[in-house]
Amino acid sequence: MSTTQIAAALYQLQQLDLELERLSAEQQAVASSAQGNTELQKLRTEQKTAQQQLRAGLQAQREAERTLEDLGHRLKTQEQRLYGGTISNPKELNALQQEIQHLRLQQSHQEEVTLEAMDAAESLQEKANDVSEALRQAEEAWIRQSGALITRRDQLATRRQEVQLKREQLAAKLDAELLSRYDRIRRTRQGKAVSKVEQGSCQWCRVILTPRELQHVRINTELQTCSNCGRILYFDR
Ligand SMILES: [Zn+2]
Repeated sequence: MSTTQIAAALYQLQQLDLELERLSAEQQAVASSAQGNTELQKLRTEQKTAQQQLRAGLQAQREAERTLEDLGHRLKTQEQRLYGGTISNPKELNALQQEIQHLRLQQSHQEEVTLEAMDAAESLQEKANDVSEALRQAEEAWIRQSGALITRRDQLATRRQEVQLKREQLAAKLDAELLSRYDRIRRTRQGKAVSKVEQGSCQWCRVILTPRELQHVRINTELQTCSNCGRILYFDR
């Protein structure tokens, strides 16, 4: 292999390594999306809360209704005593009238309380229905999304195998010393060991090469590195 061919092979190797990095980043993202959907979890918690609040609201409504019913019975009993004509003692009659009046006030107050409790229970029911509907829709969306995630996961795994194989085949053509030099430069220079020469400059750091350097990159038997960023220069003809 000529120096230019070696530089070209290293550049190609770098493209494959960069693609492998992108693939593994996406594989990680897909795996973490598949694990859990925070929106679904949030809606499930909301639904649980809404159901608890609804149960409490319905319980409060039943209690208010029962109290109202009791008041009605008591009032009816006392009114029957009053109009039954069995009580003739004026003091006792007066006390009974006062009690009835008091019960009527309590009854009208309890009617308001009951109406409020019914309204509150109705709003809680609506809220619970809304949350359940939102949850149902989110669950459906999640089922569709999971399908897409599984497809993507398989595509990524296939692509990764292909790229990995290409990389192995390419690396097999290069000598071990060169590969370790490549790895060393990649590690210390943001994953990029090879830089193309474009319009007379290093593509990575934009430093302009001297005519002598340019000449070397093209014809020298040694690999040339950028005098500024230290990357292997690849002149793509
Ligand atoms: Zn450079």
